[in-house]
Amino acid sequence: MDSVLVSACLRGVPCRFDGRDKASPEVDEAVEGRAVVSFCPEAAGGLPTPRRPAELVGGDGHDVLDGTARVVDDTGHDVTAEFIEGARRALVAARSGGCTEALLMPRSPSCGRGLVHDGSFEGKLVSGDGVTAALFERNGITVRSAPGA
Ligand code: SF4
Repeated sequence: MDSVLVSACLRGVPCRFDGRDKASPEVDEAVEGRAVVSFCPEAAGGLPTPRRPAELVGGDGHDVLDGTARVVDDTGHDVTAEFIEGARRALVAARSGGCTEALLMPRSPSCGRGLVHDGSFEGKLVSGDGVTAALFERNGITVRSAPGA
């Protein structure tokens, strides 16, 4: 079976914006027996941990890749470039590791698949993908939202 790229926070790496992890027994079970590449796009893009929470503004990750939306943190600081760089590095890691599939953290502005926060920082969700999830989909890597996270 092919390798799978997994959001690093789901594998117990404390790389979330709040400095915590999201270790998940369901995820461990889902990837059991497979080669796993654990990766955090936001850290790889140069953002510190902990960091301010960020959301997609003006569209989803596909729109960010197309240059028509941005990623900003809750102070209004634009972190679009870091998110795009992290997504690019994640794609390189996925390809290097032979991954045809990714199991990613739900609702994240990088890793979210299908639902993301709406940019209001009020906990509201809208349809859409994170920046890394969008880049993976555009490059033939099947993205699934992690169970139980
Ligand atoms: Fe987890 Fe992805 Fe956020 Fe990194 S960018 S902390 S891997 S959800």
